[in-house]
Amino acid sequence: MSLKPGRVALVTGASRGLGRAIALRLAREGASIAVNYLEDPEGVNRQEAEAVASEVTAGGGKAIPVAANVSDAAQVETMARTIAGALGPVSILVNNAGILRDMTLKRMGEEDWQAVLDVNLTGAFRCVRAVLEGMREAGWGRVVNLSSVVGLTGGLGQTNYAASKAGLIGFTKSLAREVGRRGITANAVAPGFIRTGMLYTIPEEARTKILEQIPLNAWGEPEDVAHAVAFLASEESRYITGQVIGVNGGYYM
Ligand code: NDP
Repeated sequence: MSLKPGRVALVTGASRGLGRAIALRLAREGASIAVNYLEDPEGVNRQEAEAVASEVTAGGGKAIPVAANVSDAAQVETMARTIAGALGPVSILVNNAGILRDMTLKRMGEEDWQAVLDVNLTGAFRCVRAVLEGMREAGWGRVVNLSSVVGLTGGLGQTNYAASKAGLIGFTKSLAREVGRRGITANAVAPGFIRTGMLYTIPEEARTKILEQIPLNAWGEPEDVAHAVAFLASEESRYITGQVIGVNGGYYM
């Protein structure tokens, strides 16, 4: 896998979990990295994002932490300008920021529905809109959206989350059709059950049952997802667009 020098990658929600692993992996390929994080009152996310950026720079790469709530269009636009000023225009966008608000539909209020759609789906739309012009001008771009196996199978208590992740697949395919002529690809990665904080929100009994249904009989690691994203972000993936790559140990085929 390779990346031309000067590629700039924005990874949303990169202070921890999959986003962190993806940011570090793309840095290893030589991309300059914008480590997006969501500002929190205690400043924990900022510290974690700074730590990710420091890890990249300690390895000889370029990285900056950059705050923005992907639910806020103005913050996303400002983030894109900050990155362009510090590193150059974004050429690789990884829409990774995501939240869960699991509950049965019966209990789900409109706010619980809206909040999840707003971050997971509309957040990706906002980020693409903020960086697309730069990719068009460069005649090269890679958009990788983090969907989920749940977007393909559905999940109990996850009507909001599943709708957002299935929505990302339709978004990805439509975007791929619109921007292909400009040298820009758009693909989705649909992870199965990966060992991050999100996995441990599932009760232990349910987790045991899920594990029994995974042919490779193991949880995925963040790096497994990061490898797939890095490939889709690379020069070599030029003829792959509008695809959904499952990283799920065979849980869904
Ligand atoms: P985590 O909850 O560990 O990380 C999500 C990151 O997104 C956090 O850094 C979070 O910040 C950030 N974030 C949340 N809301 C916003 C926002 N409004 N603006 C900017 N950043 C935000 O999740 P994972 O690493 O496990 O998952 C990453 C992605 O992969 C998600 O989209 C998820 O749906 C998807 N996925 C994960 C799977 C898994 O098994 N882990 C399986 C399938 C898909 P904060 O810390 O403040 O919440």
